[in-house]
Amino acid sequence: MRKPFIAGNWKLHNTVRESLELIEALKTSVKDVTDREIVVAPVFTALASVSRALQGSNISLAAQNCYPAQTGAFTGEVSPSLLKDAGCDYVIVGHSERRQLLGETDPFINAKIRALAGEGLGAIFCIGETLDERETDQTLDVLHTQVTAGLKEVPAEAMARIVVAYEPIWAIGTGRTASEDQAEDAHAFIRGLLQGLFGLSVAQEVRIIYGGSVKPDNVDGLMAQEDIDGCLVGGASLKAADFSRIVQFA
Ligand code: PGA
Repeated sequence: MRKPFIAGNWKLHNTVRESLELIEALKTSVKDVTDREIVVAPVFTALASVSRALQGSNISLAAQNCYPAQTGAFTGEVSPSLLKDAGCDYVIVGHSERRQLLGETDPFINAKIRALAGEGLGAIFCIGETLDERETDQTLDVLHTQVTAGLKEVPAEAMARIVVAYEPIWAIGTGRTASEDQAEDAHAFIRGLLQGLFGLSVAQEVRIIYGGSVKPDNVDGLMAQEDIDGCLVGGASLKAADFSRIVQFA
């Protein structure tokens, strides 16, 4: 059985104070949840404070990015080891906003995942097609390329800490969610790719989560799908009431 994984990607939102207010509200509303993994990803500058606030709680911490080197002359970058030092358990990697706005490539994303694996940190590895790619029937090819290139030479043992997030770009921040069938089809396809790369038992254990306009009113149907093991939530993770309802999907 795969433990459901619900992560809030706060993106470029919230000061330290706002982050702590959100965390206090969230800690109270999800305190009795034990059968799901709950993760929040604040901005870098709030990580250390949020980490302290989360101590002893059932919520884990993720960073939104990392650089694939542990130390050295890389001005402005943050390494997996420093994120671990700041209290992170996971790092979001390959988000479409970084692929599109900052030109991140599959090999660069792969280097980050391998650096995180080397540090024993988890990765929330994002993939997904554009609207144009979906409308021209390229979705499966895109997913195939992103999965095989992103996970190249990643050891099978590391897959226990890697969560794959299927995020169709046309559904992110648009209010336009993939239908339950569209999402399930993509997730089943991704699980098949993982089976080809790592074997059946690894593929059955990896959590594949959906992202793209997940809200309190669509989470239950998405989570009812066989291969949807959780959600990566952007906009709706900024409100404690909405995110806690999503965490407590039916
Ligand atoms: P959204 O963002 O929930 O606001 O669509 C999801 C994401 O980008 O991870």
